[in-house]
Amino acid sequence: MESTIANLIKAQEIQKSITYLEKEIELMPARREEALSKIENNEKKVISSKQEIVEIEKEIENISKLIEEKKKEIENLDNDTSYSTSSKNEKEEKRKDLGMQIDNYKKKIEDLEEQKHKKYKDIQTNEATLKVLKEELIKEEENIKNNRQKKIDELQDLLNKKKEILANIDDDIIEKFDRIFRNKGDLAIVPVYNNYCSGCNMILPFSLINKVKAQKEIVFCPYCSRMLYFSEDEIV
Ligand SMILES: [Zn+2]
Repeated sequence: MESTIANLIKAQEIQKSITYLEKEIELMPARREEALSKIENNEKKVISSKQEIVEIEKEIENISKLIEEKKKEIENLDNDTSYSTSSKNEKEEKRKDLGMQIDNYKKKIEDLEEQKHKKYKDIQTNEATLKVLKEELIKEEENIKNNRQKKIDELQDLLNKKKEILANIDDDIIEKFDRIFRNKGDLAIVPVYNNYCSGCNMILPFSLINKVKAQKEIVFCPYCSRMLYFSEDEIV
């Protein structure tokens, strides 16, 4: 049983690397997908900003036409000699009114120009982001191309090594060991130190600790179900 425990501890170290590598391999395409969707989002933003600019320009054009119309009205008014002396005030009022309308239109155009300017800035920002994102994507694709197979090979090596170490151990124990590791996500076998289970920090009964010390069987922590071994080393 002594060697079983020693081998389980060794296998656990390997299992940590296995778990890490599996995550790495799994995350590789996910990172690529993430980069792709960010790029798509930014491209959509650029396109919609461009469309908005077209709309704004149309509106400016329409308002400019209105201004021209109002100017024409003023011109007509100025050329209109039918106003008698008494209605000169009326004519002046009309003229003022048209002038105010033109001013309002001009103000609207100014606002629209400002909006347009903002949209151009948005496009610039998004295009700069796009450039960075596309560079990142290329790097990620290179990374996948160069490293994924390497990591898969590395993983296979580790799995073989683990199998070798556990070769003389009952399948039943290995199964439990793997299950605990999976469930806990960190450790399946932990040392008892100062009467504590170092997996869950609970105080263990002496009878149980004696069983752990005797190394005649695999002992499980009654609180966290991890496998236990005895260690006099201080746990940091
Ligand atoms: Zn425990």
